[in-house]
Amino acid sequence: MAKIGINIATGSIQQQEMIVGIDLGTTNSLVAVIHPDTKKPVVLKEFDGNSLVPSVIHFGEAGTVSVGEEAKKYLIIEPQNTIFSVKRLMGKSYNDVRNTSSFFTYKVIDDNTESLVKVQAGEKFYSPVELSSLILKELKTRAEHILKTPVHKAVITVPAYFNDSQRQATRDAGKLAGLDVLRIVNEPTAASLAYGFGLNKDEIKTIAVYDLGGGTFDISVLRIAGGIFEVLSTNGDTYLGGDDFDSAIVKNWISQIGVSEKELSENKNLSQELRLLAEEAKIYLSSNDLFTANVTDKQVQLSITQFENLIKPFVDKTINCCKNALSDANLTVDNIDEIVMVGGSTRVPLVKKMVSEVFQKKVNDFLNPDEIVALGAAIQADILAGNNKDLLLLDITPLSLGIETMGGLMDVLMARNSKIPSKASRQYTTQKDGQGSMRIAVYQGERDLVKDNRKLAEFNLTGIPGMPAGLPKVEITFLINADGILQVKAKELRSGVEQTIEVKPQYGLTDEEVEQMLLASITHAKEDIKIRALVEAQTEAKILLDTTAQFLQKNRSFLTSTELAETEMAMEELNSLLPAGTKDSIHAGIEKLNEISRPYAERLMDEAVNKAMKGKVI
Ligand code: AMP
Repeated sequence: MAKIGINIATGSIQQQEMIVGIDLGTTNSLVAVIHPDTKKPVVLKEFDGNSLVPSVIHFGEAGTVSVGEEAKKYLIIEPQNTIFSVKRLMGKSYNDVRNTSSFFTYKVIDDNTESLVKVQAGEKFYSPVELSSLILKELKTRAEHILKTPVHKAVITVPAYFNDSQRQATRDAGKLAGLDVLRIVNEPTAASLAYGFGLNKDEIKTIAVYDLGGGTFDISVLRIAGGIFEVLSTNGDTYLGGDDFDSAIVKNWISQIGVSEKELSENKNLSQELRLLAEEAKIYLSSNDLFTANVTDKQVQLSITQFENLIKPFVDKTINCCKNALSDANLTVDNIDEIVMVGGSTRVPLVKKMVSEVFQKKVNDFLNPDEIVALGAAIQADILAGNNKDLLLLDITPLSLGIETMGGLMDVLMARNSKIPSKASRQYTTQKDGQGSMRIAVYQGERDLVKDNRKLAEFNLTGIPGMPAGLPKVEITFLINADGILQVKAKELRSGVEQTIEVKPQYGLTDEEVEQMLLASITHAKEDIKIRALVEAQTEAKILLDTTAQFLQKNRSFLTSTELAETEMAMEELNSLLPAGTKDSIHAGIEKLNEISRPYAERLMDEAVNKAMKGKVI
């Protein structure tokens, strides 16, 4: 039944429950909706006009929990109980974050390096999913307060390079916060939507989305065609952003006022004061030429030229990433139709200028770069609510998905770049007579041998009734839902036995790993084709040897001694070729054995037919 709500802010009656768009960011998070009257996306703002909720959680001594601005105050004074950047930990094991653990001022637990990380605050341990859910709960409460109506449904954005595990973790966090997460959307897709790109079904465009926030930098190249957003490449630096600009300014100033780095690290108040002032200077210099202020009775100053010299090395790094993203997508700057600027740090004029220069095009920057991802999420939410029936937005799978078949080969059921949601099925059978179970191992990757791909899950289909080899029909179905979560079903069609699992991988794949897997599949392509051909020949030989052995066991007495001796010799020969023979020599061995067995196999078959016909009247 449809719920009817009254929006007190606008006075309008809402026939439908509102679906909110949420940008769950590393530094800040925010919520947007489609305004019921204007039908335009708007971010939700408190009375103070603030839309950004810092993605920070503080756990107080007395069991109190605060989120947002309130929690941010504790970052310096109580770092061990103040959790920031939890997005960096989503879906990750300690092994994944070990190299960057010094970045976190709170305790990231490493009791078992195989499992997902936990964070310690006070006496308690929290998973990144629980921590993110606290941020989402705060956003939900704020949204309900502003909209004056309950909020149960949301679209949440994630970086394009987030893998299944990170997407699932984000979805779980939503569920824990009491939200029905209708879709997980890529941030660059949302940003493009906010500018209206992709809203016209006939449009074909290639878009570069440049996202420079406080602590991370992402560049994504997207192709939009027929309402489908395809991520062609992603690149970036997970530890590069506006915070680096602030640090560079602080460093410059401490030499101006004659304070050592050591003194600064001991004087938390001074360090905090300088950091806040540096951010103020940076923002001021977006539209002025000189910033001056007093710190501990001394004057600090920064000119626009000094500032630009300080930050140029960081911007250069982002430009290099852009070039890499283009070459990964096999594109040149001429192929890029639009550049979309996302993240607070893209307000810096030098950043805009350098990005515009490298792409030889004007950048899209008229929307608030902090809000654009949330605005796009709201547009997506509106489409899901059925308010824009013409448009069906689809994402695609970043890597191929398949199962292991005989010889350790990867059998792809869903190719890379398949549209999401999607479904694929294929039938398999048993290798041995009376085989009662079948192991199904699910892999992700582009290589021909599963050992070179990433294992996502493994399970056993049991209870297959005893049948001769090759008779059972086991249908494997891959179903990817709208959020890119994979469900694998195995069903033996003759008996109806079935088993289903949802694939929730334990480990997170970093964006570099996804890239490496793709790159490896290209560089090893020739070698992989060779190996696949060899493994297929070996598998064929093994099956032939097995069936011939079974045949001999049953029909030995019907064969002449010459036939028997010749067959056994050909079998031995083929067997000896298995470990080191080439594809061609194995094929020759198979052919030889087939030639020897064909005449007597046919003879026996004829006899069997004759026997069966005897006494029967046609
Ligand atoms: P985000 O992570 O997208 O919220 O971006 C936050 C970063 O943008 C922080 O480093 C801010 O200091 C920076 N920022 C916000 N406004 C400006 C501005 N006007 N000029 C330069 N940097 C800004």
